[in-house]
Amino acid sequence: MKKGLLVVVSGFAGTGKGTLMKRLLSDYDDYALSVSMTTRAPRPGEENGREYFFVTKEQFEEKIRQNGLIEYACYVDNYYGTPKDYVEQKRAEGKDVLLEIEIQGAMKVREQFEDAILIFVMPPSAKVLRERLIGRGTETPEVVEKRMRRAAEEACGIEDYDYIAVNDDLDVCVKELHETIQAAHHRPISNSEFITQVRNDLKEMAKGE
Ligand code: 5GP
Repeated sequence: MKKGLLVVVSGFAGTGKGTLMKRLLSDYDDYALSVSMTTRAPRPGEENGREYFFVTKEQFEEKIRQNGLIEYACYVDNYYGTPKDYVEQKRAEGKDVLLEIEIQGAMKVREQFEDAILIFVMPPSAKVLRERLIGRGTETPEVVEKRMRRAAEEACGIEDYDYIAVNDDLDVCVKELHETIQAAHHRPISNSEFITQVRNDLKEMAKGE
């Protein structure tokens, strides 16, 4: 079976990445979602093992020492990282594994996995982003401000991604994301074994002529 792709999805807080990931999982059979480890406190309604594995700083640093993370980063004063085992298991089962991670982690994935696909989710405008962050009601005004500043910084790195997805209409965005990921399966870089096989066979056949 062909190994699944690593699909990195980044975007400013408040662009609806979480909802998009859930919809990809429920609408299609192709995906698995990586559950990250973090040292931040759970938000109301979040469950350990579902949104994140919530751990202490000591537990996180132990996982780093064991080389158990594909990547990790410090974001707004907390650690976030992607556990390796689950991702590899699901890719081996042929699932495209979605990593919803921030920009530093995305660049680390790109360094290690040249065929990973990197998608940046954008709001239709900066004004809409601010309204969505405030409307979420789970963050204090200081955290909203911190996240808006962080978004302004992150906006500088968008060109390092392969694709953007504009989340204006949720249904349209889910469909476009799915199509983008499916198209990525047809890149030469994601088919190198097949290409090498055909190339070698062609050489062999040419010799025989
Ligand atoms: P939040 O605290 O809002 O859940 O997440 C904050 C940021 O951390 C988001 O941009 C999210 O995508 C990112 N993030 C979540 N998990 C990981 C991870 O495993 N690695 C990295 N590098 N970033 C992550």
